[in-house]
Amino acid sequence: MRNSFDVVVIGAGVFGLAAALELRRRGRSVAVVDRFGSGHPLTSSTGRSRGIRIAYDHPFYVDLASDAIRRWRGLEAATGRKILHLTGQIDFGLPEKLAGIVSAVRGAGGAIEELGAAGLYARLPYLRLDEPKVGLFHPDAGTVLSDEAMAAMKAGALASGVLLYEPERVVAVETGGATRVVTEKRTLEAETVVVAAGPWSGPLLRDLGIEVPLAPAVAQVTFIAAPALVDLPGIGEWGGDEDGLGGVYGHPVPGIGYKLAFSSGQQGWEPEAAEWKPDLQEQTRLLGWVDRRMPDFPRTVQLTQRHPWTMTPDGDFVVDRVGSIVLACGCSGHAFKFGPALGPLVADVVEGQPANALFRLDRPSVRNRTVTASDPILR
Ligand SMILES: Cc1cc2nc3c(=O)[nH]c(=O)nc-3n(C[C@H](O)[C@H](O)[C@H](O)COP(=O)(O)OP(=O)(O)OC[C@H]3O[C@@H](n4cnc5c(N)ncnc54)[C@H](O)[C@@H]3O)c2cc1C
Repeated sequence: MRNSFDVVVIGAGVFGLAAALELRRRGRSVAVVDRFGSGHPLTSSTGRSRGIRIAYDHPFYVDLASDAIRRWRGLEAATGRKILHLTGQIDFGLPEKLAGIVSAVRGAGGAIEELGAAGLYARLPYLRLDEPKVGLFHPDAGTVLSDEAMAAMKAGALASGVLLYEPERVVAVETGGATRVVTEKRTLEAETVVVAAGPWSGPLLRDLGIEVPLAPAVAQVTFIAAPALVDLPGIGEWGGDEDGLGGVYGHPVPGIGYKLAFSSGQQGWEPEAAEWKPDLQEQTRLLGWVDRRMPDFPRTVQLTQRHPWTMTPDGDFVVDRVGSIVLACGCSGHAFKFGPALGPLVADVVEGQPANALFRLDRPSVRNRTVTASDPILR
């Protein structure tokens, strides 16, 4: 059995699979090792859906998300799976955030409309806003059907010749001379090792002497029964409201309902937990938000689930190199949508190109900074 590769990737979440797919496409030999199994319910890249939007307040993310939509469409065509359900999104809340989004999207040539209450309610009749009743509508947004997306990426990686060892835990990475990845079952050698272990990345990197301020958190999502909303836009509320309810995001999920979740206030994380049970108090707070924002909507909870994500101090990812180790982590609660577009970001760094300034490990907004699990999604 082969045990030497150009690249070994630790983690077959969305980051690791995307990296493996792109590196293989560039002709590299690639092995991926995943502790729980790709898309396992204990990981970040699990569950039925994720929100997707090009409407970011930074031009790089607008371009990256536009590229991601093209790549997701390509995966749909290649695999016959339905991955995207794009119904647009309405954003409201912090005026400075909305202004930044409008500026970045228009600067990139994307479509976005600034609307008053009548325009917003025409798009999403159940919505009710406080003063000032203004917001945005952007059509290049909606839902990624994440289970389907992960299955398509995994199938693509395997078909292209990526070797996947799962479930199998990496217990050590040895540097100095050849770089070795030691798992429970084997030792693999590689020119480059990509650490894409999601919330588990911090301890793996620390053992290599690489300190990254990462705060794993457990976030909860609730699906309410909502056949009437299935073709209507998603929502993004930036900031909270005066009652102390945090910002909320949501999107329609065909076959289940409308998914809603808070974008801040998450709890810290128990890495070795066997499962995360729903927090019913948080579910009640979320339903309070529904009562206020969508008062006429009949709300029946279909499903509540908890999954982990990993915050960085500034809400941007970490994609950078230290010696033979490439970091691909710090998802900050918003990486899934970029899916296959994350691959070239990581592969470029593996191939020796300098890391993008937004994602460097030594950027001022990360170096010597701290971060907590309950920090809001900033992007
Ligand atoms: C509730 C929730 C809602 C979200 N909503 C959105 C959204 O609407 N839009 C959006 O874009 N993003 C969203 N995200 C964020 C998105 O899901 C994550 O950014 C993304 O899935 C992170 O993927 P990852 O590959 O970094 O981590 P993971 O998917 O966790 O992958 C890491 C992998 O590493 C493996 N691993 C760990 N340790 C080891 C080891 N020692 N050896 C081998 N393998 C190991 C694990 O088994 C795991 O499969 C959400 C996240 C959550 C939790």
